[in-house]
Amino acid sequence: MGHKLSERLLVKKGDSVKLSEWDPEDDHGWSREEAESETEKNLERMSQLQEKLWASRTHALLTVLQAMDTAGKDSTIRRVMGHLNPQGCEVTGFKVPTEQEREHDFLWRVHKAVPGKGEIGIFNRSHYEDVLVVRVHNLAPEPVWRKRYDQIREFEQLLHQTGTSIRKFFLHISKEEQKQRLQDRLDDPAKHWKFRLGDLDERALWSGYEAAYQDAIAETTRDHAPWFIIPANRKWFRDLAVSQILVEALEEMDLRFPEPEEDLTQVIIE
Ligand code: ATP
Repeated sequence: MGHKLSERLLVKKGDSVKLSEWDPEDDHGWSREEAESETEKNLERMSQLQEKLWASRTHALLTVLQAMDTAGKDSTIRRVMGHLNPQGCEVTGFKVPTEQEREHDFLWRVHKAVPGKGEIGIFNRSHYEDVLVVRVHNLAPEPVWRKRYDQIREFEQLLHQTGTSIRKFFLHISKEEQKQRLQDRLDDPAKHWKFRLGDLDERALWSGYEAAYQDAIAETTRDHAPWFIIPANRKWFRDLAVSQILVEALEEMDLRFPEPEEDLTQVIIE
């Protein structure tokens, strides 16, 4: 296979982004069986690397997950992060801002939630909501949300310069796949708790969200804070892609266990 999977899914600075050109079914030549076994290896590797990350306390990893409803943010977190040591790993979900949050700038609540050195932070939604839902629902005037691209770029630059690696994922499903998943929720009483009528209103705004995602991704993808568009109609491919990219991010840090504070070579335990 030609380029690495991560390179194929990467959006580079300067690329224009048209989601219609990204096939949410694409498996990039992987069979389900191969993908599942590779994902298992990735998860094992991730857990080893996390131990080094935790021990060395020199870097942090921030993972941003964004997607349309039902695209699988929650199950990606369960599947891909489920192998991690919960000590040293924190998931933060960003909901409609509280009154106190609204009294501050939009990055206030986000900055407080970024991972510290040694940690892996996972954002289930993120500061990107402030250029997505806010734009689609007109919650702020255009000049306000437009300035946020720049503010986000600066913020992520700061995180990068202070030891945080950032990987941003857009889980890309088709509108048809969303219909199927919503229908499944409707048909299965055990999934009714996940069904919100509001999801249908959001679905009606699909093309508005697409436009907002395209701009947000194109405006803010950088070498040090890249966006990846993950074909997510097939869950096994989604898990493969996300786990692979996170392993690569951790490997790039070139982590080392710290030297022991004292010379241990002569130590004898009676
Ligand atoms: P999820 O799909 O993320 O698991 P959900 O759809 O069940 O969650 P909640 O967890 O209740 O919904 O909250 C997320 C909601 O908060 C989304 O509708 C999202 O658009 C909204 N939200 C998040 N950040 C903001 C923001 N900055 N401004 C306005 N709305 C926001």
